[in-house]
Amino acid sequence: MRIAINPLQINPQDALLVIDVQNDFCPGGALAVAGGDEVIPVIHRIAPRFDHILLTQDWHSPHHASFAHAHPGKHPFEQTEMSYGPQTLWPDHCVQGTPGAEFHPALRLTQAELILRKGFRPQIDSYSAFFENDRTTSTGLAGYLRERNLTRVFLVGLAYDYCVGYSALDARRLGFPAIVIRDACRAIDLNGSVASIEAQFVAAGVELVDSVSLSSSVDPNRQLGVPLKHL
Ligand SMILES: [Zn+2]
Repeated sequence: MRIAINPLQINPQDALLVIDVQNDFCPGGALAVAGGDEVIPVIHRIAPRFDHILLTQDWHSPHHASFAHAHPGKHPFEQTEMSYGPQTLWPDHCVQGTPGAEFHPALRLTQAELILRKGFRPQIDSYSAFFENDRTTSTGLAGYLRERNLTRVFLVGLAYDYCVGYSALDARRLGFPAIVIRDACRAIDLNGSVASIEAQFVAAGVELVDSVSLSSSVDPNRQLGVPLKHL
């Protein structure tokens, strides 16, 4: 899929949606995405251009149904059938209240206005920031964006081919223009998942850009925050 590098103006009704930049998705974590922590400097470079930053946090109960250990005889990365359809099984990750579920300590986005937790219902996984994996249980994010008149979403974070990708597709399904900043994401790439999500991006009208495309006058007084874990 072609990555656009044409200049793109950020406006005050845009939201930067930072998906799951948590310890368990970074090197050393329980479900580490290769180079996952490399998204952080890119996110820091573009964050000051946005008036509104929203974070998501994968937030599972200890024996969550998306964990392989909850399915006797199954192993991580195998598929199973849930009541809502096929589901990939994962190693235990982002368990509520554990260090793995915390934001990466280098992530300096205290200016974020919302932390949206997802995947907390024991029987349903949630890749998307908008809907859980049954495709009908809402997280409330669409209502939040509409009530705040945030009309376009830019997506960054982890993982490109799962939580970032499904969030972008759902944004389009709900009528929001959705732009994925490719170099501010890293992928798991399991069983062709990158090719699959990019085919769906094309069909849904999700734009893929490089961070060099983002232009707007950045207030030099707008500083990065402090590491989130020090709140
Ligand atoms: Zn998860």
